[in-house]
Amino acid sequence: MASPKYIFVVGGVMSGIGKGVATSSIGRILKSKGFTVTAIKIDPYINVDAGTMNPTEHGEVFVLEDGYETDQDMGNYERFLDVTLPSINYMTTGRVYQEVIRRERNLEYGGKNVEVVPDIPLEVLRRISEAQKRESAEITLIEVGGTIGEYQNIIFLEAARMLKQKYPRDVAVVMLSYVPIPGNIGEMKTKPTQYAARSLNGVGLQADVILARATVPLDAKRKEKIAIFCNILPERVISAPDVSSIYEVPLNYEKDGMGDILCDVLGLDRRPTDLSAWEHFVEKSHNGGETLPIAVVGKYFESGEFVLADSYISVLESLKHAAYANDVKLKISYLDSEVYEKDPSKLEDLAQYRGILVPGGFGTRGVEGIIAAIRFARERKIPYFGLCYGMQLAVIEHARNCAGLAGANTVEISKDAPHPVIDVLPDQVERLTKQDYGGTMRLGKYGCVLTEGTVAHAAYGIEKISERHRHRYEVNPEYIARLEQSGLVFSGKSPSGVLMEIAELPTSVHPFFLGTQFHPEFQSRPLSPHPLFVAFIKAVAQHHV
Ligand code: GLN
Repeated sequence: MASPKYIFVVGGVMSGIGKGVATSSIGRILKSKGFTVTAIKIDPYINVDAGTMNPTEHGEVFVLEDGYETDQDMGNYERFLDVTLPSINYMTTGRVYQEVIRRERNLEYGGKNVEVVPDIPLEVLRRISEAQKRESAEITLIEVGGTIGEYQNIIFLEAARMLKQKYPRDVAVVMLSYVPIPGNIGEMKTKPTQYAARSLNGVGLQADVILARATVPLDAKRKEKIAIFCNILPERVISAPDVSSIYEVPLNYEKDGMGDILCDVLGLDRRPTDLSAWEHFVEKSHNGGETLPIAVVGKYFESGEFVLADSYISVLESLKHAAYANDVKLKISYLDSEVYEKDPSKLEDLAQYRGILVPGGFGTRGVEGIIAAIRFARERKIPYFGLCYGMQLAVIEHARNCAGLAGANTVEISKDAPHPVIDVLPDQVERLTKQDYGGTMRLGKYGCVLTEGTVAHAAYGIEKISERHRHRYEVNPEYIARLEQSGLVFSGKSPSGVLMEIAELPTSVHPFFLGTQFHPEFQSRPLSPHPLFVAFIKAVAQHHV
């Protein structure tokens, strides 16, 4: 194997313009050329992981197979690259410092002064190298969160500079920039990109490729201008216009020759790119097919659609993957469950939806409204899919309204509920008492055994599965028999048989009513949609209002 190659993706001008999708798309292209690719995300936060961050501020917390709680970009990497990434591929400032301080306390620096520079960038590079070796990656992508010029990410840019200084032929820098068209001028302005390129020069780095995000494609004149002022070849300025689906982005980049350009920069032989399966998937997303209205019911929903799409990105992407697989399209509405608490007659609005989904969540707010919506879905036979909290609340609804357990609840909400049908996991009690919250939930991948003859088993087509988790509470074993007697089927259980992983109603009583204690959305991929999402959307397509 040639020496490993590294591509740093950095942001210029402003954040929120799709650096994660850009990194993922570059990865997809290089993978489609037959390279072994891995991707790393660096977040410049003191938080040791993303688990303690509010999703409405930071976006979804994406859980890796090994349980690390990370940024939503890791989900994009896994989906675009069709890989499963380990925790070494995600780092925050907090994580890096934590490790350096741990080693210092262990006398591992042998009595020397431990300094921000070079010891922090060296730890960053150690992690990058470990991630590269783990996958034997020919090309390692490293996305540096934030924007050039921010005080926060300077040590990460310094790491990139140090690596480039050591291996000048093996490191490429891609800068994602933004080219605005101010309304009163009506013309594309390249100056912010020029300033960003200079800031990058100021930390000792030169962009090899500039990705110019804009509402429309870049014309030749603008490419030339960026090239001259940013000290780069015009063909290495790649147009990144707005697109209707993020999955089109790799195809767009490839139109501008991204894959070959990067091969040239890194001294790799050019190879043909085979994106045919990807193209086929993107075509499906444009094809006709019915548009089905789906309701996603939950709290947090006053923050606006834009924020919500980020908070539940894996759920939304999984729904899309399953819709394309079923040759339909979806119109997703976010419904704030607190509305049903204030005015129960509003529940009737739910009858217009072909399916109802309740995603994961925490805490008390809006929960009674969600339970009312789940009851509506059950009684009116609207396909229902509950994820984690969405499963726990479906169990509570069943307990209260089908099993005669008045006042049934989760101890997360009510410690002295008469029927604690959702109880705290035994190993969580001490952690909660000690307020030891960070990274201590039941996290990551666990096995699950499916019962034959159930909706879940039919969907997966196999008996043993494994899925990713993120929760502290579970179905209380003391109530299982009672819940089963009243018609709830636990179709998926932990291998020990103790933890209930899937709850469903038989098809004889409901077309599709299923909840999972795990988060299936973390394992759905464009080219291999998740079987439970596919089964849900199939039921949605068959349900008529
Ligand atoms: N709040 C619930 C628990 O901790 C559900 C968590 C979730 O939906 N991810 O068990």
